[in-house]
Amino acid sequence: MHLTSHPTGRAAYADTRKWLLDEHGPICAYCGQKFAVKVMTLDHVAPRRGQTAFDRRDNLVLACPACNGIKRDMAPLAFLLGNRARAVNLVKYGWHLSAGLIDMARALVPDAPPPGRPRLALSDLPALEDEEDPYA
Ligand SMILES: [Zn+2]
Repeated sequence: MHLTSHPTGRAAYADTRKWLLDEHGPICAYCGQKFAVKVMTLDHVAPRRGQTAFDRRDNLVLACPACNGIKRDMAPLAFLLGNRARAVNLVKYGWHLSAGLIDMARALVPDAPPPGRPRLALSDLPALEDEEDPYA
């Protein structure tokens, strides 16, 4: 995949939209529904705040107009918490996002597949009663 050396601007934006459509199809990364290509919008998962760095591909997903409208003024975490299905869909249709965003979505999906870089926590270890008893 050729990455453009000038990731901002209208042309790059159109490139990213096309790339996302090729990768995922016209599917909203939040509600998981399929829409007509022409209505799909690009959504900044983390709010842009006027910084061009946020136009990077790893901060953009396809969103339907309804989800984009709901999310507009919400922090990404609040938006995902409002409906956990959004986090499930974002894990599924947002694999190209930055690790920080993926981790945020995964944290809201208890049965998501394990991340590539596993972080062991006590709660992730199997319960003792599941282990075979070597003296049985
Ligand atoms: Zn949607």
